[in-house]
Amino acid sequence: MSPISKIFIANRGEIALRIIRACRELGIESVVGVSEADQDSLPAKMADRAVCIGPARAQESYLKVETIVCAALGTGADAIHPGYGFLAEQPDLSRICKEHGLAFIGPPEKCIKEMGNKLLARKMVSDQGVPVIPGSGNVRNVTEAVEAASEIGFPVIMKAAAGGGGRGIKIVRNAGELQEVFDTSSAEARVAFGDDALYIEKYIPLARHIEVQILADQMGNVIHLGERDCSLQRRYQKMIEEAPAPFLSEDLRQEIRRAGVSIARSIGYQSAGTVEFILDKKTNKFYFLEMNTRIQVEHPVTEMITGIDIVQEQIRVAAGRPLSLSQENVTLAGHAIECRLTAEDPERNFLPMPGRLLDWECPEGEGIRVDTHCFPGYSVPPFYDSLLAKVITKGEDREEAVQRMKHALGNFVVRGIHTVIPFLLFVLNREEYRNGDVHTNWMESVLEQAYSRK
Ligand code: ADP
Ligand code: ADP
Ligand code: MG
Repeated sequence: MSPISKIFIANRGEIALRIIRACRELGIESVVGVSEADQDSLPAKMADRAVCIGPARAQESYLKVETIVCAALGTGADAIHPGYGFLAEQPDLSRICKEHGLAFIGPPEKCIKEMGNKLLARKMVSDQGVPVIPGSGNVRNVTEAVEAASEIGFPVIMKAAAGGGGRGIKIVRNAGELQEVFDTSSAEARVAFGDDALYIEKYIPLARHIEVQILADQMGNVIHLGERDCSLQRRYQKMIEEAPAPFLSEDLRQEIRRAGVSIARSIGYQSAGTVEFILDKKTNKFYFLEMNTRIQVEHPVTEMITGIDIVQEQIRVAAGRPLSLSQENVTLAGHAIECRLTAEDPERNFLPMPGRLLDWECPEGEGIRVDTHCFPGYSVPPFYDSLLAKVITKGEDREEAVQRMKHALGNFVVRGIHTVIPFLLFVLNREEYRNGDVHTNWMESVLEQAYSRK
């Protein structure tokens, strides 16, 4: 494969800027495809070139494979970076890029397909000898769902085989609830993912979410960059992440990392990817959850403790070059935390709050990184994800990283719209958080405490 000299970025927001920065550092030209709503955005200004790819609605712009490939070819790009969300896990894009001689900065179509369908992924992973959460195959109707759930034992969790972003996940406590959940879930999955296949997993009530960052090249080198803990979630979506995972025995940590690498290797993975696991806090057993075949929102915490630029590595391997380092050369130092700063009002059930930023000033200082596309006067459009910024702090240890995060969030100046900063600070100040006495449902439970009196 020939070297990459111009990258077309098929995304927006902070991740588009993040990719532009990697291009700059590598001496690669960047072209960003923007919707009509993003023509005055920071990525549009910062990229070497911006081209309009359609109306504000993502279905008519950021999600249109043909439009994006044509725009990439028309601007003379030789590669496409899909970022996360949008087309990042659309196998067609990977294939069509290849057919047109464009490098896709992500894995081959086959890997996206195999891991994108959670049922298929579970089968492949369990064939590898890595434990998967006890669960069913595709349940086609309520009778099959009741049968499967009774066998697994309530409570169970209903999931869409094609699901993502926490959508379509529902806890089911008894057979009586199954009918309704089955109907709504399959309807939702059909609309959201164009695929209504559902399945059931055993629900693990006291769990941690631990994931392994993978890097792999086209020569078959597969390495991990350690793990992250993403147990702080709201509605099955991550809000605060950290690396390395705290309060984990060294044996278990190594075992989880090895499992991640072995899964990636077994499917011939290439590029950056993440293998997600659920750790049952009661038994200390871990299970494969899913694999995300793309760059993840929380990749900066890993970059902070390894010093490795994951986006640059993605670009490198897409150009057919080997990873810039081997497993022995990966060293982890310090501790990093990320908070997702969204334009939502925690006092109003996290209602998205698009609007104009009258004031916007990011904190600065030792060990603080802010990934954002916002600026004073920017109007947050109502059409997309409400992520405004990712605040990442690093310290020599967890304590210092947390202190820096509190400092950073406390010094953020945002005027004009509501953000989740007050809630993030509330969580960071909790004793349970400091002691690692948390699990995937913990944040929602403190949320109730924090706002129930309102
Ligand atoms: P991760 O698994 O990387 O932690 P998510 O599970 O939250 O992150 O998945 C990525 C999510 O990001 C998508 O489900 C989507 O809601 C959201 N998203 C998609 N595109 C964008 C974007 N350009 N900017 C911000 N968020 C986006
Ligand atoms: P998505 O593709 O939407 O990211 P995941 O399968 O990765 O969906 O699950 C998202 C989150 O939902 C997990 O991080 C975890 O908090 C919760 N979850 C998923 N499956 C289970 C389970 N079987 N038991 C308990 N919690 C689960
Ligand atoms: Mg997930």
